[in-house]
Amino acid sequence: MGKALIIGAGGVASVAVHKCVQNSDVFEEICIASRTKSKCDDLKAKLEGTTKTKITTAQVDADNVDELIALINEVKPDIVMNLALPYQDLTIMDACLATKTHYMDTANYEPEDTAKFEYKWQWDYKERFEKAGITALLGSGFDPGVTGVFSAYALKHYFDEIEYIDILDCNGGDHGYPFATNFNPEINIREVSANGRYWENGDWVETEPMEIKRVYNFAEVGEKDMYLLYHEELESLAKNMPGLKRIRFFMTFGQSYITHLKALENVGMTSIEPIEFEGKQIIPLQFLKAVLPDPASLGPRTVGKTNIGCIFQGKKDGKPVKYYVYNVCDHQECYREVGSQAISYTTGVPAMIGAAMVMTGKWNKPGVFNIEEFDPDPFMEELNKWGLPWVEDFNPVLVDEPVNDKKLEFVR
Ligand code: NDP
Repeated sequence: MGKALIIGAGGVASVAVHKCVQNSDVFEEICIASRTKSKCDDLKAKLEGTTKTKITTAQVDADNVDELIALINEVKPDIVMNLALPYQDLTIMDACLATKTHYMDTANYEPEDTAKFEYKWQWDYKERFEKAGITALLGSGFDPGVTGVFSAYALKHYFDEIEYIDILDCNGGDHGYPFATNFNPEINIREVSANGRYWENGDWVETEPMEIKRVYNFAEVGEKDMYLLYHEELESLAKNMPGLKRIRFFMTFGQSYITHLKALENVGMTSIEPIEFEGKQIIPLQFLKAVLPDPASLGPRTVGKTNIGCIFQGKKDGKPVKYYVYNVCDHQECYREVGSQAISYTTGVPAMIGAAMVMTGKWNKPGVFNIEEFDPDPFMEELNKWGLPWVEDFNPVLVDEPVNDKKLEFVR
């Protein structure tokens, strides 16, 4: 069918590469390109001979548009899969525009010096992508990604109008360390140390970090504490789901994680403000990343499951409807299959599927789009096929239902 250029060779890219070569009818050829070429070569060495997909590798600095253009011109891919970091989104989009090549990613652009989690920079490319006749698929991981597909699927099949969405991201995995992050520590810590925010009746409501807590009993995982966070798909879903009254995002954290994070915050280690150290400017959060376990090393030691999904409330034919759709993923099963834990797996699989949707022409429209703007059905089918089966529940317990006889209210 075609050729993909995959940029990045970290946790998520590694899973996506494994999945692309399993899907060699679509991915006849892939080029893995990253800052550290040896990581690309290691992946190639591991997978070559197991697949019909032809694998090549390259070195690239994805902060450099000219280098990217040169590489795209040499490889001539049908799509560039951006699985590097959010800082590289715009340079890679620029290179795709210059070479008229489709683009996809799993995280919105982030300036290095401020944590924003906003789509505006990427949405600004819409007209230019339309004119160039190419597609940019934004946020094709799990969240953002599958959560947007779940939303589009719920709206298409079960609702006339969705009024409330709660996205529930539960990681019931245990890696045995007192503190480690499951994906890039810098991005993860930026996300959880920022103020919480949710969208209600057309406005954003801001909270202190981790101010709003709920307890939820997750299928195949059990009861967990979860906290309201801002998460980037809230911005696009608030815009793209007609009639929506409120959308929130909750993520589970254990007590040990929160205690460590608080201490690190209190001593200034999570700051993204540069400081001078021994005559050199360093960013505390980047230094912290260097001393924490590499997320890629967590695979063999993480046990347990993730459960990520969305609870929808709304109306169909004038009657109230509740609908919960979620995926459960087992860390050790993922590790056995692709050598990574479930966090990378649940992101890398949808990245492959999103790219395949564009390459096969199922999701091909010029412009810049979030994932919920496409027909969800073919993507939902592929999730079942490629290792992320989903479960439906038409009578779920809601997030704000009483827990231990106590109704929790927003503290504001
Ligand atoms: P990693 O840190 O494991 O990997 C990042 C990769 O990008 C590394 O191979 C790194 O190279 C490479 N890279 C970084 N900067 C450059 C550059 N300037 N030029 C070329 N390559 C570069 O991150 P993850 O795999 O965990 O995450 C990848 C992406 O997925 C991130 O954007 C993250 O936010 C997103 N994500 C999305 C999720 C979702 O559900 N939507 C969930 C989890 C992650 P090097 O090896 O040299 O450092």
